Amino acid sequence: MSGRRTKIVATLGPASSDPDVLLALIRAGADVLRLNLSHETPAGVAAIIGTLLQLEREHGVQPGVLLDTAGPEVRVTGIPEGGRELLPGDMVCFGDGEGCIGLTHPGFLEDVQEGARLMLDDGSLVLTVSRPGNPLSATVEAGGVLKNHKKIQCPGVRLRLPMLTDSDRAAIAEAASLRLDWIAASFVQDIDDIFDVKRWLEDQGLDVPVMAKIETRAALQNLDDIVRVSDGIMVARGDLGVEMPAEKLPWLQKQIIEAANRMGRPVVTATQMLESMCEHPYPTRAEVTDVANAIWDGADAVMLSAESAAGHYPVPAVTTMARIALEADGRETRPGHGPGLDRETVTRAVTHATVTAAQDLGARAIICATESGYSALAIARLRPSIAVLAVTPHPHVARRLAVVWGVDSLTMGRALEGERMIEMATATALEAGRIEPGDMVVVVGGVPTGQAGTTNMMRVVTVGEAILRGQGMGLEQAATAAVLVVEDVRAVTPRQAQGKVLVARTTNREWVPIMEVAAALVVEEGGLTCHAAVVGLSLGKPTVVGAEEATSRLANGQIVTVDGRRGLVYQGAANV
Ligand code: PGA
Ligand code: MN
Repeated sequence: MSGRRTKIVATLGPASSDPDVLLALIRAGADVLRLNLSHETPAGVAAIIGTLLQLEREHGVQPGVLLDTAGPEVRVTGIPEGGRELLPGDMVCFGDGEGCIGLTHPGFLEDVQEGARLMLDDGSLVLTVSRPGNPLSATVEAGGVLKNHKKIQCPGVRLRLPMLTDSDRAAIAEAASLRLDWIAASFVQDIDDIFDVKRWLEDQGLDVPVMAKIETRAALQNLDDIVRVSDGIMVARGDLGVEMPAEKLPWLQKQIIEAANRMGRPVVTATQMLESMCEHPYPTRAEVTDVANAIWDGADAVMLSAESAAGHYPVPAVTTMARIALEADGRETRPGHGPGLDRETVTRAVTHATVTAAQDLGARAIICATESGYSALAIARLRPSIAVLAVTPHPHVARRLAVVWGVDSLTMGRALEGERMIEMATATALEAGRIEPGDMVVVVGGVPTGQAGTTNMMRVVTVGEAILRGQGMGLEQAATAAVLVVEDVRAVTPRQAQGKVLVARTTNREWVPIMEVAAALVVEEGGLTCHAAVVGLSLGKPTVVGAEEATSRLANGQIVTVDGRRGLVYQGAANV
């Protein structure tokens, strides 16, 4: 496996709204596109998705779409154009008073205590509260120019605001009617916040997975519970670095990723990954190392924020990230929560067996026949060195999996039928050119189909190579067995022919006893009314007639698969 396995999430914005840039971004490796509702309006979201759908029609690209909500946040208002300079030692007031800095939600001030620290503009300005209330007074510690609409935060303070703003709701509804694969929930504090979002989605009749952004102190305290009830996780280092001292971030990142890996939730590491590429065409050494280390921590995806949304080098940022990921993916530094842990459920046992079998056999791919994406997620969690191909009837499932490490998806045109699931998935991969005849693959899935949550079936399949073509009898039958080439019918007993693929030039009445016990018939003589065709059909045996040179091209003892419907003979055990 030599391709990139780690996925890339690229945030869209003014730098990437042009259709050509958007297409270049996707082609450079952006697997998922993030629209940030802290900056986009519902109409803006609709316009971008419209452009994306146009690109999909024209170029066949199909990235996942992640809508990142603004959520409960407070921003400053009423600051004049050009900003207001805050100098260290200045006393500043916030709230409803003469000369005070306004807030989008003044109610926030009720929860701020004396001595608390106020962080403005992602923590670049810091103040200490000297007199709480509304208006509130605070002394500037770290100064700078405060621009209008910048975020204000007080680490540890729980905002009494809904998880989704009116604009978030409008944008979600807008996007859902066009294209929406994931929602990111901002400033999650506990599982009730996730349930609030899920409940609203359910009320709207929307089935969209929710990614919890871990960016508050409370979320860290409730980490395992939040991971359990969420569909995905984001290590939101931007706001987490405001809520927590920055030096705590590296270890917190590892803990968050570990929890997500352990519970099989895809996890995205975000913010400032290649920050210097906003201004420069090359990243710093520290940034390159940060991206690789995030991957080695166990991230499914790495994210670009301002680099692709507002920087000067959006496409080079994606290209650079893809190169770093490819290099990092080539190393065996996998997190230590692979097979061997948590093997108590059927899914864990079967996915563990699948990955072990595929690696032991050097299989070409692990094919996940999946309705919900669950099997693919469960396999990816084990970070196999073998390629993982998810085959699903649902395009939205394929796009949701775009954020998952190592999973490449294919959409098939029809529903997965339980008993034919293995062959349908294998045939889809074969038709798409992802696997070739002769490849060994391990197919995994859940039976019955359409019931998400159990991966209970695996099979090792050798994709057959057709070595002979003739005429089939139209019977839905196939057999895999050893070849027995018969020149002289009198030299062969029924016992010798028992269970074999009988290969002959032509047949007549004398052959019937051995034809009756054979597993399949392959005969050089052609025509649907020749003796072999008539007998084969009446016996209900997989039969191929008109198989030119069959007696010289097939050898005794050779294992072949006879596809009596299509009239093909495959080398080995083929899954037809
Ligand atoms: P944001 O989230 O970019 O929406 O703030 C990510 C983060 O906080 O890191
Ligand atoms: Mn954030």
